[in-house]
Amino acid sequence: MQCISNKLHPRLRANGTLESMQELIVDLHVHSHYSRATSKHCDFEGLYRWGKLKGISIIGTGDFTHPEWFNEMRDRLEPAEGGLFRLKDEFSEPIDKSLPPQFRQALIRFIPTVEIATIYKKGDRVRKLHQLIVLPDFASVSALNAKLERIGNIKADGRPILGLDSKELLRHMLEIEPRGLYMPAHIWTPWFGLFGSKSGFDAIAEAYDELAPEIYAIETGLSSDPGMNWRVKGLDDVTITSHSDAHSPQKLGREATVVQSDLSYDQIIGAIKTNDSRLVGTIEFFPEEGKYSADGHRACNIRFTPEQTKAHNGICPVCGKPLVVGVENRVSGLAERPHDFMPEHPKRVEYIIPLPEIIAELEHTKSTTGKAVNALYHRVLEALGDEFSVLRSVPIEAIRGAGFASLAIAIERLRAGAVIREPGYDGVYGTIRVFKDNEERQKTLNQLSLL
Ligand SMILES: [Zn+2]
Ligand SMILES: [Zn+2]
Repeated sequence: MQCISNKLHPRLRANGTLESMQELIVDLHVHSHYSRATSKHCDFEGLYRWGKLKGISIIGTGDFTHPEWFNEMRDRLEPAEGGLFRLKDEFSEPIDKSLPPQFRQALIRFIPTVEIATIYKKGDRVRKLHQLIVLPDFASVSALNAKLERIGNIKADGRPILGLDSKELLRHMLEIEPRGLYMPAHIWTPWFGLFGSKSGFDAIAEAYDELAPEIYAIETGLSSDPGMNWRVKGLDDVTITSHSDAHSPQKLGREATVVQSDLSYDQIIGAIKTNDSRLVGTIEFFPEEGKYSADGHRACNIRFTPEQTKAHNGICPVCGKPLVVGVENRVSGLAERPHDFMPEHPKRVEYIIPLPEIIAELEHTKSTTGKAVNALYHRVLEALGDEFSVLRSVPIEAIRGAGFASLAIAIERLRAGAVIREPGYDGVYGTIRVFKDNEERQKTLNQLSLL
């Protein structure tokens, strides 16, 4: 992990320009309350509020194919600088009034995005893929929605499922708006990932044929990090991005992409498409925390390393059925390069544990959404600034000085990468802890109270 400079959430001058050329934290994979299994707080007010608390500047709208959500987009958002969108004052002002003063000026802009699921047959196998589409304006959203409406049902789910070849979906987008960005989503997850072990492909060209050069970027997903993706030669020419795939606004920015550019659609999306110096890097989950890191069977309580899976010939010793092969194993299968391979000019990679999880560990509770954790979370933010600043850049001394001594220790360990990792498997999230066990946690806290 590289050294992190002290940066606060970007702010606007009165004339509408950025105070300085600052890093923008970008999260394009987001869902609205019209997607299945999402929070009812996934509306623009919720995204705006939590974007500020988290320290994210550029947020995808998610779900733009859903007619009612698209109506909300047109009702709540208005054009801002550089082709971006902002929440209208009538909706943002009440939220700003309810936030601590230091969050009021923080900048939030939206970009129209959607995740689309495709199911189709190619090469004699059924393929199930997820992909993100980013478009610059409501006109191109309307045009794509009109096209997709004739292909399948886009009203049932904010993340529609279409019986359409992913390549044809890409072609439709390019015909409507070449400035759009099409990204295979969470490419390593066993189901729905471009490279997934269950219904994916082994190479970008296998899925996209002559349109493969139009794939400029991929999303790592929570279970993989840039290091894992660097091992695969076939990804050398695409940009590695990360996003939250948030199903509730509190989960915004679980992962994110950092861009240094002006506030404009073409600059931000251009950074992602070209992977030039404007693309600073990504903010990552520890990949073990993802739901498909290791191999296994959830119902059989089997979690295997790739070596154990091999020793069992890929078969579950409890139920006798094939194991769900996780991301670590799948990457090793496709990778031509060793674990520690580094590209010549690597982008910055920063690992985080969401602050509510750190606080829950300090408070010795499993729930990250309980009252005590929530109250402490907001006290920390009020004293120290947005969550990304607390996790990434606020000096450890300042955290301690604000009265959060145990949090200071935890964040110091996080920034040093000194964490304990238990990998997720077959849909079960992994856990990342800063203390080895409760005993060590208690001992550390007792020492603190003596000081
Ligand atoms: Zn997905
Ligand atoms: Zn089993």
